[in-house]
Amino acid sequence: MNSPVTPPLALRDPTLLREAAYVAGAWIQGAERFAVHNPATGALIGHVPLLGAAETKQAIDSAEAAFPDWRKRAAKERAALLLRWRDLMLENAEDLAQIMTAEQGKPLAEARGEVSYAASFLDWFAEEAKRVYGETIPSPTNDRRLIALREPIGVCAAITPWNFPLAMITRKVGPALAVGCPMIVKPAEATPFSALALAVLAERAGIPGALFQVVTGDPKSIGGELTSNPTVRKLSFTGSTQTGKLLYAQCAPTVKKLSLELGGNAPFIVFDDADLDAAVTGALASKFRNSGQTCVCANRFYVQDKIYDAFVEKFAEAVGKLVVGEGAKPNVTQGPLINAAAIAKVTALVADARDKGGRVVTGGAPHPAGANFFAPTVIADAKADMRFAKEEIFGPVAPVFRFSDEAEVIRLANDTEYGLAAYFFARDIGRVWRVAEALDYGMVAINTGAFSNEVAPFGGVKQSGFGREGSRLGVEEYLVVKMLAMAG
Ligand code: NAD
Repeated sequence: MNSPVTPPLALRDPTLLREAAYVAGAWIQGAERFAVHNPATGALIGHVPLLGAAETKQAIDSAEAAFPDWRKRAAKERAALLLRWRDLMLENAEDLAQIMTAEQGKPLAEARGEVSYAASFLDWFAEEAKRVYGETIPSPTNDRRLIALREPIGVCAAITPWNFPLAMITRKVGPALAVGCPMIVKPAEATPFSALALAVLAERAGIPGALFQVVTGDPKSIGGELTSNPTVRKLSFTGSTQTGKLLYAQCAPTVKKLSLELGGNAPFIVFDDADLDAAVTGALASKFRNSGQTCVCANRFYVQDKIYDAFVEKFAEAVGKLVVGEGAKPNVTQGPLINAAAIAKVTALVADARDKGGRVVTGGAPHPAGANFFAPTVIADAKADMRFAKEEIFGPVAPVFRFSDEAEVIRLANDTEYGLAAYFFARDIGRVWRVAEALDYGMVAINTGAFSNEVAPFGGVKQSGFGREGSRLGVEEYLVVKMLAMAG
């Protein structure tokens, strides 16, 4: 069956929607191409090249050739190019948001927010480029000088997911370029157009073509080349834990530096001394942003006995007011899920919960807005044997578990192989410190449902991965230390 064709996006600058990959400074069409569809309507947006190992090798070779010159440029010069790129992103923010909403589905307001969030990484790392300090170390024997230099690691690669099609790229390419490394990006198959629009703007900003390349196509063959080619010295991956483990193994033979931002299973704890309205607002932000498709989304709500019923009632009332529909339409607050597989997974998780005694308070079924829509859902009386106690939901479903004391909830919250983000709401200051310290997570949000920005370190522990993005630590991922010992 032919899919409907999306009416052309009303872009101010239609050349930003580029149906070509960007390799070695050239826009290439590729012999084979694949289609990209709008998840809200099923309509065709366009086609991009289905590239593989050969074009990826070409990208790596050109990046290698560009590295010596780029690393020698003054940090100020690299920073100026990044800032020009950031300015172009902000000047074209509306078009970037339209492209993202068309291919990813998120409401336009969220897409606009992501454009500024993505641009903030270029801004931040342009500044950090100027602060890659080394160290002089007092010699224990005083007969030599010891100096530690911090140098760019070399050619870098990034494999990125579809849920934040711009920001997951700029928070990797920003620090790489800032410290002197070229970067090759393989975007997710669902969202190549946002990545390619970034490449159009990078080219316009005057960033040499070999420094930021976008290779669209087959994940296995592009990923195979990026991980096995010894010239690539660093891989930064954001995506599922399953793919992350595979790439980790694939990088072992060439001993690449890695950062992995993987899945999560965030607990969201509401203690009985919490500000209930603030907790509900935080729960909405954390769970339903991007239709629940973020790695830091609350996955398990734990609410203390005394306030359990009141929380469920207020939360379900607020969730019932979310406006589901095509992200491009005004006032919509929840778009579609990314594809039919995501709907099937969420449907199965809800069925499992119902079978085991879960009580659907609101939602609980696909939404009539279209094939990829699911109604925002709250499930009370959630139990530890339900699948979502262990599995990442990645959809708009909020299971609410009951707990009675602090020790119990900390044990439950930490009882997962993941360790990305955790949230809790409480007022007692002693409790706030104890719980913050006891949660085994890379990020803990206290009395808020939103915490990510360019200045704070983002990343997980356990099987949620390692490495930190954003913040001053973000540049470390793209640097190596060279020690100089000079006699005399
Ligand atoms: P995914 O792992 O399937 O895909 C992520 C990227 O990896 C895509 O570009 C995909 O094409 C690529 N990929 C898939 N198989 C590959 C292979 N064999 N070789 C090379 N590349 C391959 O994940 P997804 O479905 O796109 O994203 C959802 C998952 O990502 C969720 O589990 C979520 O928690 C996680 N995620 C984590 C973060 C984070 O910062 N920790 C952010 C966003 C998403």
